[in-house]
This record gives sequence, C-alpha cells and structure tokens, in this order.
Amino acid sequence: MTIDYHPDLFAQARRLIPGGVNSPVRAFQAVGGSPVYFKSAQGAYLMDVDNRQYIDYVGGFGPAILGHAHPDVVSACVDALSCGMTFGACHPLEITMAEKIISMMPSIEMVRLVNSGTEAAMSAVRLARAATGRTKIVKFSGGYHGHVDALLVSAGSGATTLGCPSSPGIPSQTTQNTLLAEYNDLASIQSLFDMHAGDIAAVLIEPISGNMGLVLPEPGFLSSLASLCKKYGSLLVFDEVMTGFRVALGGAQSLYDCQPDLTILGKVIGGGLPVGAIGGKSELMSLLAPTGPVSQAGTLSGNPITCASGLATLSYLERDQQAIYSNLSDFSCRLTSGMQKIADRYEIPFTTSYAGGMLGFFFTHGPVRNYNDACQSNPRLFQTFFHAMMAQGVYFAPSAYEAGFVSIMHTDIELEHTLDAVDKAFQAVSQTFADSLHESI
Ligand code: PLP
Repeated sequence: MTIDYHPDLFAQARRLIPGGVNSPVRAFQAVGGSPVYFKSAQGAYLMDVDNRQYIDYVGGFGPAILGHAHPDVVSACVDALSCGMTFGACHPLEITMAEKIISMMPSIEMVRLVNSGTEAAMSAVRLARAATGRTKIVKFSGGYHGHVDALLVSAGSGATTLGCPSSPGIPSQTTQNTLLAEYNDLASIQSLFDMHAGDIAAVLIEPISGNMGLVLPEPGFLSSLASLCKKYGSLLVFDEVMTGFRVALGGAQSLYDCQPDLTILGKVIGGGLPVGAIGGKSELMSLLAPTGPVSQAGTLSGNPITCASGLATLSYLERDQQAIYSNLSDFSCRLTSGMQKIADRYEIPFTTSYAGGMLGFFFTHGPVRNYNDACQSNPRLFQTFFHAMMAQGVYFAPSAYEAGFVSIMHTDIELEHTLDAVDKAFQAVSQTFADSLHESI
C-alpha cells in the first residue's frame, strides 16, 4: 500500500520544480506514493501541513543533532541575522568557527568553510590532485560524496573496473580517473594500488558508510587503509559530512583512532544551514588559494549566519559531550535492538547497526559488509514498513539506503512509541513477506 500524502501540493510542485522536489530522494520514488509536506519542526518532531505530528528519524538528513529549532541555535541565528546576513568579507565568527572545528578534530590544523558537502568533496579532490601531482581517485562502491561529476561513478561495477558515470551529462573522460574499491575489502584496494601505483592521488571514503544504509568498518579496516595510502604516497580523505560530530565529537576518526590527511565536513557543523568544510594539515591546506595555487572560492562561504548556527550547535555538543554521545548511542542501540527483536519474532530477514546518533537497518539477513550486501535488502518490505510507520506518526527517510538520525531530544517516550509502531508495522511487513514468498514459488 502506498499513499499520496498531499497530492494537491505535489501536483502543483511538479509543475514548477523538476519532479516536484529540490533533491531527488524527497520524491518518495523508492517507497511509492508522493511526499508529505511539512510546515514546522520542533525537538524530535515534524509537523505536516495537516497538523499531523511525526517522530523524526531523518533530522534534516543529519544536521539536527540537537533536535529541531533548538533554542540556543535559534537565538544565535537571530542575533547574527540582526547584524546582517552576509558581508562577503572577513568577520570574527569564522575564526571562532575554525578554532572550534580544529579543537575537536586533531587531524585538522586548518579548515576552509564552503556551502555544501558536495562542494567540500569537489575541492578535496582538486586539492589532493594538486598536492600529489597525480590524477586517479579511489572511491568505494555505495559511497556518496555529493553530486561531484568525478565521484558520481556507478557502484558495483567491480573493484578493479575503471569508473563509468552514473548520470548522463558526465563525460566518460571525467570519471575515467575514478577507481572503485569495495568497502571492508582491503584486497580490492591493494589490487588498485598494484595496478595504478604512483597514479593514485587520494582514497576517498566515508569511514562509517552512511549512504548504502549504515555499514560499519570492520576492525582494522580503516587503519590498514591508512597504512596502504601511506605506503603508496596517496592521501587518505575521510568524508565525515555525515559522521562528523554525529557518531562522536571527533567524528569516526576519533572512534576508530585513525587520522586522515584530509577531512570533509558538512551537516552538523551548520546546525541546519547550508555548509561544508575541508580540513587537514596546514601544509596541505596552504595549497588552497590565496596562499597556494589551488583555486577555491565561494560568495557565501563562511557566512555569519551559518557560523553562528554551527557554533551554537558545536558548543552545545562540546559542553556535555560525554553524556550527549553516550545517550545518543544508548538510544540508537535500544531502538535497533528493539527492532531486531520484533523482526526476529515475526521471522522477517532483518539486520541493524548503529554508531552514536546514526542507525541503519536492512531487510536481509546480515552481515551487511559492503554495497553488494546492502543491495540484498528487500525493497518491498521496506516500502511496507515505511508507510506503516508513517501511518503511526513515525518518519524514516523514504529510501532503504539512507541512515536514520537521532537527536538529543529523542527520549524514552519517543523510543517506546517508535517500538510500538514497529511492532504494528511488522504485522504488515510479515504479510508482504508472505506474499513475496508465495509469488516466488
Ligand atoms: N558526503 C556525504 C557522506 C553525504 O552523506 C553527503 C550528503 O548527504 C554529501 C557528501 C553531500 O553533501 P551535500 O548534500 O551538503 O552536498
């Protein structure tokens, strides 16, 4: 069963905006039906235009770690707004913001603020190529680094295959230097180094993968990857746009005690406003213009409202970091283990994972170690689950391959309501499962 939540609004939007949306996953194509339209968000809740309330596990796709409209963030933005929205010039808040990020991530000595994770990834690739004088970039199947031409390479075409573009409009010359490896598979990376030693500028990885559902690195994977990069003189770039300040204050690099050469950030550091950042050792970062020759610029980069919003968010997280990250982990752990128990009771193939304030689940038997495993998740079961949860006022992302996000405003009350809803949703899921088994006979 699929539902058109607000068909009139969506019909109007489709006449004016391609597909009716400003970012494709919002269109509900993966779950069927058409999107719900929200009018406000507060704490752990979203409110739709018909005044229906939903517990939110999307969190703006990551930024809302303090919950929506947190008073500290709102008042910081209001104060900044009243002083002017953008100067196109230097201001003290950008220094405070840089200091804050650098103090929280030891691998970062200098940071450049940009406007999105995509922009950060694009600039990181350019910087890595300039720094090494090499052209090839390794990314991982199922890894997403924004819609950068060179990084939009179809996943799953094999560890040693040269990348081919996954969107029209990207010339094959643009992706011919993009190589694909398999997540959690060191041999796939070793074979790329064997074939292209001396040509690989950087290995770009989500240290905890969050764009094929949530897939955790196996013990030793990241540190072995770092050693390989060092051995072959390639830069290790951690894309912590999603994981930065969400899985731990110092990001996945602190959880796994692994220092990349460059880090790209986004989401949480903007507290809900458009943002991205590239950070790393001063020697590398100084290659960026104007100290160095690598072009990088932005009209709204480091704008004062984003800095105020991000600073308020990071300062709040820092103040009570131990309690905050332990509570986020505890919530994610109890939610995912509760879901697993329910799935087991209904005998539905299901597996879950979590890291701090991020969680994931797949409708397949685990373990899910890489993109290929993630693709085994049953889309029909997810679709049924998604709409059954919506009907009970719980909003997960409308795609089986998005991570779930929790905030400090998610409490036992929301946990209990969610697990009750999961139990009811799995009654519908088990019917879909039975139907699919019947059809496959
Ligand atoms: N990198 C990762 C890991 C992401 O999850 C995303 C977006 O979801 C991006 C980069 C791109 O960020 P943005 O959407 O801000 O361009």
